[in-house]
Amino acid sequence: MIQDFHYRALPIDVYFGNGESKNAKSILNEQGFSSVLVITTPEQKDSGLEMAKHLGDLVSEVYPHAVMHVPVEVADKAVEKALDKNIDCCLALGGGSTIGLAKAIALKTGIPIVAIPTTYAGSEMTTVYGLTENKLKKTGKDIKVLPKVVIYDPELSLTLPADISASSGMNAMAHAVEALYAQDKNPIISMMAVEAIKSLSQALPKIVKDPQDIEARKQATYGAWLAGICLGSVGMAIHHKLCHTLGGTFNLPHAQAHAITLAYSAHYNRNADIEAMDKLAQALGGQSHEEVGQLIYKLNQQLNIPLALKDIGLPENGPSEVARITCESPYYNPRPYNQDELEALLKLAYEGLAPN
Ligand code: NAD
Repeated sequence: MIQDFHYRALPIDVYFGNGESKNAKSILNEQGFSSVLVITTPEQKDSGLEMAKHLGDLVSEVYPHAVMHVPVEVADKAVEKALDKNIDCCLALGGGSTIGLAKAIALKTGIPIVAIPTTYAGSEMTTVYGLTENKLKKTGKDIKVLPKVVIYDPELSLTLPADISASSGMNAMAHAVEALYAQDKNPIISMMAVEAIKSLSQALPKIVKDPQDIEARKQATYGAWLAGICLGSVGMAIHHKLCHTLGGTFNLPHAQAHAITLAYSAHYNRNADIEAMDKLAQALGGQSHEEVGQLIYKLNQQLNIPLALKDIGLPENGPSEVARITCESPYYNPRPYNQDELEALLKLAYEGLAPN
């Protein structure tokens, strides 16, 4: 059934292709940027320096200080640097953490972002920003943080280790899954979501087997792009809210927390939007909405992703704390929930027991 909907396409220039990042200089020139802050994590500093070499006199400085979940102190220092250097563009080269720091700068200063994503997190396609203060991660939406240009170069993901690739890909999958049953879902985004789920579920096992498989990398990047559009175009549900709390309050690795929890969130919602969940099951190679949790759990197993939240650092009081914090600010979900139900969901995820 097609419901009435409102759909707004994202105003982003997207370039996609193997080796595309080598055109960054001409793309920045075309956009009229002349003083660029290249942002990376400390681990990707060398890639930043290499990019700076390619960009030559367009670069003001390489800033390798992005960390996960954008702590406000890190954001404040970066804003100071951007203002001090009088830059006219942030080039974020990296995953969601790097793009997140560029977004924090854009939020305060309005300086436009050019993103070159090197994971599958999808932040480059959204107006969503996140900041963590006093162990609480707060998110908001602002058009200022939406990148102006995104350059997808699957070759850059060849260095992403198999385990991070797998969980990052499942993070993208989570965006597509929740887009299928979003409160404001629409037929275009649902098509993209199904295509994203198919692409990611086909590509990720190949990448885990051979991280140098460039065709699989391309397919995963394509899936991640579509999933990012899903995330940027419709509202998410309780799964995303749970993962924000797992990350912000317990500093769990973002992508792994998403991958593990997704099996349980999907299982919880399996009967709440049967049409959407049947689509999800079929995109994952199954038949019926009843199976979605198990299908995601099995895919995680196939990808060698840790199956239990306790194995990635959640303490024993985690499930009850996360359930409590989540219920403090209500969030849309296709199936109603209360604190006890969320705690039960998280306890299963804590133990890594198959959803049933
Ligand atoms: P990340 O950016 O923290 O990257 C993980 C690690 O992989 C880092 O050490 C990074 O340097 C390294 N890395 C990245 N690409 C690499 C490559 N190609 N080769 C080798 N190493 C590489 O992880 P992430 O999962 O992409 O991002 C997580 C963050 O993004 C979280 O803070 C999350 O909240 C945020 N996020 C935000 C949105 C949004 O819309 N605002 C969407 C998704 C994720």
